[in-house]
Amino acid sequence: MTVPTFRFAPSPNGDLHLGHAYSALLNARMAGEAGGRFLLRMEDIDIERCTPDFERGILDDLTWLGLVWERPVRRQSEHFDDYSEALQRLVDEDLAYPAFMSRGEVRAWLTEEAPADWPRDPDGVPFYPSRDRHMAQRERDARISTGEGYSWRLDIKEALARVRGRPSWDETGMGPAGETGLVVGDPAAWGDVVIARKDVPGSYNLCVVVDDAIQGVTDVVRGRDLFHATAVHRLLQDLLGLPVPSYHHHDLILGEDGRKLSKSRRDTALRALREAGATAGDVARMIGL
Ligand code: GLU
Repeated sequence: MTVPTFRFAPSPNGDLHLGHAYSALLNARMAGEAGGRFLLRMEDIDIERCTPDFERGILDDLTWLGLVWERPVRRQSEHFDDYSEALQRLVDEDLAYPAFMSRGEVRAWLTEEAPADWPRDPDGVPFYPSRDRHMAQRERDARISTGEGYSWRLDIKEALARVRGRPSWDETGMGPAGETGLVVGDPAAWGDVVIARKDVPGSYNLCVVVDDAIQGVTDVVRGRDLFHATAVHRLLQDLLGLPVPSYHHHDLILGEDGRKLSKSRRDTALRALREAGATAGDVARMIGL
């Protein structure tokens, strides 16, 4: 029998805030109600911005909130082999291509050459230029052999042609436009997403689906800001033959100015509240749990 398995997956690149407390406590509560497991995962592939200090701060904050999770904690930086394997599979199946353009080159292309109606993804980021997708293999090989850096991007059109229909999921929470129940995603809206960064054999999108599968996660409970990214996650699961969890996107805790909380704001940081003498009960009241 499958054990209901939930996870909280922060990135140790800053202090947790009230929004993270809500997500972690909701995951733990839902796991408890389902008689399931509650896991913690450190999403620390960004080796420059993630630090042991931030990780320690997260563990202290979660302990202070009264949470108990299974050990050992999975740390993404210790599992690059798993992501490499998944990446290689997509590369071998001609679903990914090396993307050589630097941020500056992309910016220059966008201002100087891009058509006026060049598409943007749901976060407002312009699609990556199509030049590298069409590059001759000989040129790719030559550039790689000179040591030029590159990331890997998913050829979204080709990827969608390989799966049956548009990927869908069971949404037990709600999307930004009230989406719930069976949701049919639109991964093409993201263009050719990055599946591996220059310095790491994975990206958030790739690592998250590989880990959820390896850890046997059955229920992904996370903020509504990740709702649209789920379409990409579902597509990657179909391409890699991974099991499909159910998804629950929850409300975001907003600041007093009505805006999304950020890791750089001190007033809603859990560490600051903890050091100011607040209790876990105070936090629960502040976030309405
Ligand atoms: N690591 C992501 C974040 O901190 C969360 C990923 C997820 O829950 O899928 O925003």
